[in-house]
Amino acid sequence: MNQTTNQSASQTLQSKLPNVGTTIFTVMSKMAQDHGAINLSQGFPDFEPDEVLLDRMTHYLKSGKNQYPPMIGLPELRQAISSKLIKTREVEVDPDTEITITSGATEALFCAIHSVIREGDEVIVFDPAYDSYEPAIALAGGKTIHLPLTLPDYQIDWDQLASAISDQTRLIIINTPHNPTGSILSESDLDKIAALIENRNCYLLSDEVYEHIIFDGEVHASAVSHPVLRQKSFAVFSFGKTYHATGWKIGYCIAPAELTAEFRKIHQFNAFTTVTPMQWALADFVNDYPQNYLELPAFYQHKRDLFRSLITDSRFKLLPSKGTYFQLADYSDISDLRDTDFANWMTQEKGVAVIPLSPFYQSAPDTRIVRFCFAKQDDTLAEAARVICAI
Ligand code: PMP
Ligand code: GLN
Repeated sequence: MNQTTNQSASQTLQSKLPNVGTTIFTVMSKMAQDHGAINLSQGFPDFEPDEVLLDRMTHYLKSGKNQYPPMIGLPELRQAISSKLIKTREVEVDPDTEITITSGATEALFCAIHSVIREGDEVIVFDPAYDSYEPAIALAGGKTIHLPLTLPDYQIDWDQLASAISDQTRLIIINTPHNPTGSILSESDLDKIAALIENRNCYLLSDEVYEHIIFDGEVHASAVSHPVLRQKSFAVFSFGKTYHATGWKIGYCIAPAELTAEFRKIHQFNAFTTVTPMQWALADFVNDYPQNYLELPAFYQHKRDLFRSLITDSRFKLLPSKGTYFQLADYSDISDLRDTDFANWMTQEKGVAVIPLSPFYQSAPDTRIVRFCFAKQDDTLAEAARVICAI
C-alpha cells in the first residue's frame, strides 16, 4: 500500500452504525411528498392540536417564558404528570426524583438505554420493533437480541423469552400499545415479565407512548402501576401522541429515583432540557383539561372503525388493531411484491403512502403486510379509501 492510499484510509470515517440508513418514516414521508400521495405512512395527525393548548403556548411565548427551564423539566409539568397518575392509575410518582421531561420519547428511550447498557450487555426486543431501539443499544455497546412476536396476533412467545434471558440480559424493551402492529400487552403479560426479571440484574424499558390510544374498552397495562416492574422500569411517554402535536417533541420518563439519577446524567449532556413555553402550556393543559386524554380512546376508535369500514370491500385483509393509530393490512391477494417494493408502488403509482413492516425486523417473516396510519381527518381517510378500494 503506498503512502497516499494509507493516508486516505486513515481519514475514512468508520461508521458506528454501518447498517443504519435513513429511517423508513422519513423515507416514506418524503416519497409521499415527492409524488403528491396521501400520506398514511409516518404516524402523525393531519389535524391541529386543541385550540386551548395552542392559546396557552402563544400566551407563554409572549409572557417571557423563553429561557432555559430546569434541566429535569419544569416543576409545574412534573407535578401535573404526578397528579394525573394519581387520578388515572392510582400510583404515586415523586415529581422531583422520578419524572424527567425529555425532548420527545425518542430522547427518553436513548437515555434509558444508555443508563444501563454497557459493552457486551444484551437487550431483548420484540420484532417488529420500533426502529430507534437497536441503534441506541449499538451505540451503548450492547447487543440486541431479536425475538419475533408470534403470528397472527403479534404476541410474546413466553418459552422463547424465558430461554433467551441469561446473565448477560440487562434490559428488555416492550411497547404497548404496539407500533407497528396495534397489539397490546395485558396485566398478566406484565406479571410474566416481572416473574422473569424480578430476581435478575435486568431492567425493563416500557415504551408507552400510545397509552391513551387503546380501544374496545381495553385498559392500558402500564409498568408504572405494576408493583414489581415499577421498581425496575423506565417507562416512556410522549405528549406528541396524546395531544396531536408530534412536532412538539416533548416526552417524559418515569423511573425509580436510583434509575432516574443515572438517566439524568445522560439527559443533561444529551438534550439538557426541552422547550420552555411548551412545558408551561402542557402543564396547564394536563391540569385543566383531563377530558382531552380521557376522550382519546373514543376519538381514535371512531377513526379506526371508519377507516376499516371504508376499506372493508377492498382486496386488503385487515388485521386487528387494539391500540395505537395504526392499521395493518395483508395485501397478498393483490401482489407478490416484497413489502418495501409494494409500499413504494402504492406511494408512487397509486398515490397512498404506507409503511412496510420488514424494516422493523432482524429477520422478516414471509408475509405481505403494510401499515396504514389512521390519525387523519375523516375526509382524508375517505379519499384514501377510494384509492385503496380501487387497487
Ligand atoms: N416509540 C414509539 C413506539 C413511537 O411510535 C414513537 C413515535 N412515533 C416514539 C417512541 C417517539 O416519540 P417522540 O416523537 O415523542 O419522540
Ligand atoms: N413513530 C412514528 C411512526 O411510527 C414516526 C416517528 C418518526 O418519524 N421518528 O410513524
